[in-house]
Order: sequence, then C-alpha cells, then structure tokens
Amino acid sequence: MGIVNLSDLSRGEMRLLKKARTTAERAVSDLGHQIGCVIKCRNGDEFFGATNIRSRTIGSTCAERMALDQMYFHKNRYPKVCAIVGKLPQTDWRRKWSDSKICTPCGVCLETFRQAIQSLKLKDLNFLCSDWSGKRILRAKLSDLFPTIT
Ligand SMILES: [Zn+2]
Repeated sequence: MGIVNLSDLSRGEMRLLKKARTTAERAVSDLGHQIGCVIKCRNGDEFFGATNIRSRTIGSTCAERMALDQMYFHKNRYPKVCAIVGKLPQTDWRRKWSDSKICTPCGVCLETFRQAIQSLKLKDLNFLCSDWSGKRILRAKLSDLFPTIT
C-alpha cells in the first residue's frame, strides 16, 4: 500500500482512473459529492462503473456498491482492480470542496467488498483510489483499507 504518482501507473491503470473520473462527473448529489467507481475484471476487457447518488431527504447510494451490483448483474465474477475517484468535502463540507483528498470506500462498501471476495473465493482485491486532481493516488489491497487495532 502506498501513495503513487500518475507517472507510476501503467497505461491501463491510467485509463481505469480516467473512466472513474468520467463516471464521477455524472454524480447526482445535492451536496456536491462526486464519486466514481470502476471495476475492471480479469476475464475479457469488461468494466463496470457507477457513480454516487446523494439526497438530503432520501439518503445515498455509494458508487462502489453500485459498481459491484453492475458486475454481478452482468454475471461477471472476476474483479481484478477497483478504481475510485472522488471530490470530497474539506472541513467545512457545505462550502469548500477539496481536490486533494483521496477517496476511499466507506465502511459499508469495504464490508460489501470483503463479503464479495470471500464468496467469490478470491484472496484480495486491488484498489486505485485517487484525489479529484489525479495527482495523488493510493495503490492498495482491500485488506490494507480496513482499520487495524494497534
Ligand atoms: Zn460506500
């Protein structure tokens, strides 16, 4: 697990993050969140992407879980890399948005991915999580993203 630069990525990884960013730009959010998730699978060249939907009155759905839903809906069972790009709030979330915060999955999404790879009998899942500017990228395994107790 570690922070990498855009120049450290393969062409395929860059393309995946670009797809996640394009997906994020389609977000529906009354607060301004823009999160995109694209899952690339091992078999073939299939991508499954989704964006967040957020409403103050009815709640939200996360891009990560919706992308996973798409993968299952299309009967693909071989996720290889999950790319996430997000525009996240700074401390004052009602006014300022940060281009430099790296977007990682929330706790519910982490647990959903954990259960998915367990049921798919996979050992782990690779993640690329980027800030909105695309300058800071976290390369990690799903297992790295869970909090640890020290
Ligand atoms: Zn989530």
